Amino acid sequence: TGPRAGGGAMSGFLLETRGLSKRFGGVPAVDGVDFRLAEGELRCLIGPNGAGKSTFFKMVTGQLSPSAGRVLFRGVDVTGEHRHRLAALGIGIKTQVPSVFDGLSVLESLRLAARRFHAAAESARIVDGVLADTGLGAVAARRVGELAHGQRQWVELGMVLARQPALMLLDEPTAGMTPDETARTAELIRKFRPGRTIIVVEHDMHFVRMIAEGVTVFHQGRILIEAPVAEVMADPRVRAVYLGGGRRDA
Ligand code: ADP
Ligand code: MG
Repeated sequence: TGPRAGGGAMSGFLLETRGLSKRFGGVPAVDGVDFRLAEGELRCLIGPNGAGKSTFFKMVTGQLSPSAGRVLFRGVDVTGEHRHRLAALGIGIKTQVPSVFDGLSVLESLRLAARRFHAAAESARIVDGVLADTGLGAVAARRVGELAHGQRQWVELGMVLARQPALMLLDEPTAGMTPDETARTAELIRKFRPGRTIIVVEHDMHFVRMIAEGVTVFHQGRILIEAPVAEVMADPRVRAVYLGGGRRDA
C-alpha cells in the first residue's frame, strides 16, 4: 500500500528511522533500528526494562543525538533537531516529566498551548474540543497545581492535543496512575484517536491491551517483533523476554 492521501512523505511514511543507534560508553542501547509508521496509525512501543524504548524515544524527540542513523519525518531528515523545531514541524511530545505550569488554570494552559500554533478564534474552538474530550471541562478554572496526579497528566495530554500535531509521541502516559486513572486514560486515547497518528511508549501491558492496535516490541536495543496486539501478546518470544527481563545474556 502506498502513502495515504495527505501523507506527503516521499518514503510513504510519516515517521521513519533508518539504522538508528545509540551507544553509551561503547554499549549499544539502541542498535540499528529501522522503524516505520504510516499516517493514521496508533503504535505502542513495548519491551522489558532496558530494552531501549526511552533511548529510542529520546532520539526521535530530539532529546538525545544518535550515535548513528537517521530520523525522517515526512521524508525529511530531522535527526538531531531540537524539540521546538520538531514541534513547529508538527510533532507533539508528552514526556514523563510534567511540563505543566502549576500557577496557570487548566483553561489557561490549554489556551497557551493552542495559541502557539493557531489563531485566536481557531484556538478557542480547539480548546473547547479538548476540554470536552478530556473531561477537564469541570475543572477548567482550577489551578493545575491543585489537581490530582492523573488530572495533571491529562492537562499535559490536552496541551499536546491543543497544538493539533500531525504526530503525537507519548512516553508512558499512565506512569504513576491508579488503575482507575489508567483505564480513563485508555478511554481518552480511544476518544481522540480517530484521524490522528500516535506513538505510545508504555510499560503497562494491561494498558497496551486496552488501547493498542499495532505493537512494536523492543528487546536489547532492537525490534524483536512488530505485529497486531493480539499476535504480539501470544508470541512466545515476547513472553520469554518479559519473563527474562532485560538480561543481555538471554
Ligand atoms: P527502556 O526505556 O526500554 O527501559 P532505556 O532506553 O532506558 O530502556 O535503556 C536501554 C539501555 O541503555 C539500558 O541498558 C540502560 O542501562 C542504558 N542507558 C540508558 N540511558 C543511559 C545513559 N544515559 N547512560 C548510560 N547508559 C544508559
Ligand atoms: Mg524507559
